[in-house]
Amino acid sequence: ARRAAAGGGGEEDAGGQQPTIFSKIIARSVPATILYEDDKCLVFRDVAPQAPVHFLVIPKRPIPRISRVGPGDTELLGHLLVVAARTAQVEGLADGYRLVINDGKHGAQSVYHLHLHVLGGRQLGWPPG
Ligand code: IMP
Repeated sequence: ARRAAAGGGGEEDAGGQQPTIFSKIIARSVPATILYEDDKCLVFRDVAPQAPVHFLVIPKRPIPRISRVGPGDTELLGHLLVVAARTAQVEGLADGYRLVINDGKHGAQSVYHLHLHVLGGRQLGWPPG
């Protein structure tokens, strides 16, 4: 139910402005295990981890999906990557990890608030499903 409320149809509305579960996590009205926060982004553990370490890096500004970013988002996107790498280091992922951004239907995106997945702590396979 949470997934449906978060993502279901959220992408179809005007510019993806509908709040998702991630807006509620930013607002602290939904609990999360937060690993890092600054004025531009939030990092928290995925509620359904697909690896021993699985966390999400999200911008506080609710960009719905990676395919909707523009040139004005360059600095923010770079910041998300730097925070992802730094947090992976703090989480002890010295043997490597994977960054994933799912976009839209074919990318199996379920929450329409841009997020980077960081997965590690085990040997990952390639190619992904
Ligand atoms: P997507 O499929 O790339 O959109 O990924 C959405 C991710 O958000 C999934 O891995 C979910 O497990 C995760 N997720 C959904 N709701 C919550 C939540 O309330 N807290 C933490 N992670 C969540």
